[in-house]
Amino acid sequence: MIQQTLVIVKPDGLKKSLTGNILTRLSETKLRIVAAKVVHVSPELAEKHYIHLKDKPFFQEVVKYICGELHGAEYRRVLAMVYRGDDAIVKVRKLAGTTNPEEAEATSIRGQYGRLTTKGLFENVLHCSSDEKEAEREIKLWFEPQEIAEDIFPVESIETKVQRTVWK
Ligand code: GDP
Repeated sequence: MIQQTLVIVKPDGLKKSLTGNILTRLSETKLRIVAAKVVHVSPELAEKHYIHLKDKPFFQEVVKYICGELHGAEYRRVLAMVYRGDDAIVKVRKLAGTTNPEEAEATSIRGQYGRLTTKGLFENVLHCSSDEKEAEREIKLWFEPQEIAEDIFPVESIETKVQRTVWK
């Protein structure tokens, strides 16, 4: 079944210069990239993204982590991408490895590059959607329809008046 999944290289992945390695590993899946951008993550976006963890004791920590507040000002960003193809969600999850990098299979991306910090943070270098419902919710949260190179979800046209920043 053709699926799409949100993949995010987290601030520790960027700081450790792992983007190329992660993309190379992801290319093993033979899925195609249909969207990609660098994002300076706001707390609002992070909180919406991790809404399912709202009641966990580590919620504020994971929000700070994905906002880049734990890895220095130059790494306050992530690389967000959408991968698409046959069984995309399970293929990427399998390659990524389990959430806790210490328990992840050694050859998975998290097993290879992740670490459990002395403060107990799961620095697991990437995010990937867990199921179809989450993938749709997350992709719509992170991307506008025109930022995606294929028509993956239905769209509609509306008229809006918005103030936006343009080149001077
Ligand atoms: P994922 O889908 O594998 O990323 O896992 P979750 O959605 O459950 O968790 C989101 C992120 O929160 C993970 O990638 C970790 O960075 C962090 N996290 C999840 N569970 C724990 C935990 O038990 N302890 C800590 N410290 N962080 C966690």
